[in-house]
Amino acid sequence: MMERIKPNYYDRFTCIADKCTFTCCQEWKIAVDNETNRKWKKKYPPQEVKVQRKNLSAYTTKKDGGRVIRLDEEHKCPFLSENRLCRLVSAYGDSVLSETCTVFPREVHRFETHEEEVLMPCCPAVIDLWAEEENVVFPEVPENGRNLRTMIREKMMEMFRNKEQSIEETLLESFYILLELYQAEQEDTLSEERIENYFSREAVKELKTAILAIDLPFLDTMDECNELLQDLAVNYQKEGLYQDYLTKILPLAEQLSERYDADEMEQKGQDFAKQWEKYRKLLAVFMENELFSDLLMPDGDLESMVIQMQWIAMEYTMIRHSLFLKWMQDGCRDLAYETLRDYLVLITRMTGYEEDDIYEYLENSFDELVWEWGYLSLIVGK
Ligand code: SF4
Repeated sequence: MMERIKPNYYDRFTCIADKCTFTCCQEWKIAVDNETNRKWKKKYPPQEVKVQRKNLSAYTTKKDGGRVIRLDEEHKCPFLSENRLCRLVSAYGDSVLSETCTVFPREVHRFETHEEEVLMPCCPAVIDLWAEEENVVFPEVPENGRNLRTMIREKMMEMFRNKEQSIEETLLESFYILLELYQAEQEDTLSEERIENYFSREAVKELKTAILAIDLPFLDTMDECNELLQDLAVNYQKEGLYQDYLTKILPLAEQLSERYDADEMEQKGQDFAKQWEKYRKLLAVFMENELFSDLLMPDGDLESMVIQMQWIAMEYTMIRHSLFLKWMQDGCRDLAYETLRDYLVLITRMTGYEEDDIYEYLENSFDELVWEWGYLSLIVGK
């Protein structure tokens, strides 16, 4: 059997169901696989389901080339009960569920040599696991699965374990190195030695000094993140999704696009940075998890690693900016863990695109698919 590797917290995950503050049973595409749909054609809906249809399959619809559960007018799964339990599970047991509902928030990435199991951050119970875990450990790729790309991923993940520097600094440094290695691959000069050199202590130290000398004004970063967040939210706004969260931040985002007092905003930026720093350890785990799960696609090349890294960086900056807005809306008080968790879940759901959709989004939104380091540094800031 093929070897399966997973992070050390993976097996501790359990769905907290009715205690969940941000259930996955609403405002999502809940996929129904063909086999489940066939079974559902022969099953009646439980009596408590509000709108009665002839069978369970009649609650599904086709969307974006697949079959999904048709959500009700409040964008909720029709099988979700008032006390936030699944009526299908109550009536028929877990085996009635579609593959998506059974495995969420787990994902398996199948490589030729091994399989990687991950938990996705779009579930609040996963964030809680990270917050409780003293020492999160990601597995090493088995010997026969190791190659230049897994080596790069491992070294980039290692950089996020450096407690001495901020996530922002690590993002700036690691993306710079990744771009250089991508260039080397195009020139056919990528080698193990080259990778070792780029990630060596001396090279990273030099890079750090060079980056520290660059001026990255906070207000430029804030303006760009503010635009990006509004762009990202457009379709969700149109469909009326995530309104409980988006209505708390988007009006302020729009207002900031019009005007603000620069000195006041600079000060707020500095105050927020202190709040953000409190969660550095948790955010570092989040970043490592994202790199472990998304940086390396089973059939991906170095360009796809660059694209995925851009997406991860954008996701991180959108989480940070949405929380900056929420924190200002709430009167610039303490940033509570629960608020951080909510917006982390929100943004990871909003950016949880398939690889093809990420390419499409980036192609439509930016002049170049592969960003220059300067653009990433603009949205990441310092
Ligand atoms: S989001 Fe996570 S904890 Fe909440 S209902 Fe879904 S799987 Fe369970």
